Amino acid sequence: MSKTLNPFEMAVMQLTSVAKFIDLDPNILEILKKPKREIIVHLPVKMDDGTIKVFTGYRVQHNDARGPFKGGIRYHPNVTLDEVRALAMWMTWKTAVMNLPYGGAKGGITCNPSEMSEGELERLTRRYTYAIKEFIHPYIDIPAPDVYTNEQVMAWIMDTYSALSGRNEPGVVTAKPIELQGSQGRTEATGFGVMVTAREAVKKLGLNNNEITVAVQGYGNVSYWAAHYAYKWGYKLVAASDSKGGIYNPNGINPIKLLEHKRKTGSVINYPGAKNISNEELLELDVTILVPGAIEEVITEKNADNIKTKIISEGANGPTTPKADKILFEKNILVIPDILANAGGVTTSYLEWVQNLMRYYWTKEEVLSKLENRMVEAFENVYKLSKERNIDMRSAAYIIAVSRVAKAIKLRGIWP
Ligand code: NAD
Repeated sequence: MSKTLNPFEMAVMQLTSVAKFIDLDPNILEILKKPKREIIVHLPVKMDDGTIKVFTGYRVQHNDARGPFKGGIRYHPNVTLDEVRALAMWMTWKTAVMNLPYGGAKGGITCNPSEMSEGELERLTRRYTYAIKEFIHPYIDIPAPDVYTNEQVMAWIMDTYSALSGRNEPGVVTAKPIELQGSQGRTEATGFGVMVTAREAVKKLGLNNNEITVAVQGYGNVSYWAAHYAYKWGYKLVAASDSKGGIYNPNGINPIKLLEHKRKTGSVINYPGAKNISNEELLELDVTILVPGAIEEVITEKNADNIKTKIISEGANGPTTPKADKILFEKNILVIPDILANAGGVTTSYLEWVQNLMRYYWTKEEVLSKLENRMVEAFENVYKLSKERNIDMRSAAYIIAVSRVAKAIKLRGIWP
């Protein structure tokens, strides 16, 4: 997505182009173009210095034809209503392509969490939960973390909501701490899913398992776990990076030792035995699997021609621009789109919610095995359609998602 365009307009444009492709009923398109509900709240919060600051928060519920709304909450100075609207619509497609019984939503508060104390963040979170309490519920809308929110924030939401409703309601948010009925496997879920889909692509391309090389951009939660599972399955991790730069060693890197190095020094750079490279160079390495797992818009029309990998598994949201997509497709590079590749997080959120509702908990192995089955099935469906129609995986994923939501709306009908 280009930063100069309004993100919601972009999301609607994307929907409109999919609609043309599948000959979508124009009445359904009109429904899908607009979120079902948009909540704007102004939140007075007592700051540590005794003043009161009023923050603006949003919860946008795009569509719930297939099940309760689902989507994260972000705390960021740049949060706007249009950004939250776009993210809510993308959540509808993500849950649909994964065939989860959910719709899509997103929330956000315009604030700068890096300048706020723990106490201020807690008061802000509780106030926000109070303000939107009528609109969230385990069967209505289930928030989760996003940029600069974490399991502690989820714990505060769960506690506030439970206090207000007079009973314990763990199923109102997901990605909670394990001690508060969070799920095993949630930490590694997204990176694991990124590598499971890449592994399925390796099989489709008939590549030799012993010769797979992997480069990951970023070395946070998503990229680390993607690298971890790649290594575990016998692939060779040859490059990784973070905001300070990257490293490359064609002989292979142990991801666990690299994580220790990053924890000690604050970065992956200067890792013993590896050569320092730039983030740009990392993207252009001749590897089998490239995981852009840090930030958006890193593969553009400027560098797409130089990309040499066979498979891109999008760990981050929106790392490839539409113009780059076209170039990569012509170059026969298999791009596993973000709404599929990084859906391991929301899928494990779904598994957490299921466990919360039945009050019975699975082991990590059970959770990861259920997650793996769902990722493989979703990959298969998207890959099959992309081959049948000779289109890229992103277009195929959107077609499947929009068609599923449209079908649900049609079956339910418009009431009254
Ligand atoms: P994180 O904060 O744990 O890690 C981000 C990493 O990116 C860090 O290593 C950071 O140093 C690096 N980075 C930042 N700026 C960079 C730059 N300019 N160039 C290279 N590296 C840079 O975040 P995360 O949870 O791993 O999420 C990464 C991406 O994946 C985000 O786009 C996020 O929205 C997306 N995502 C995450 C999840 C999840 O469950 N964590 C789920 C879906 C999508």
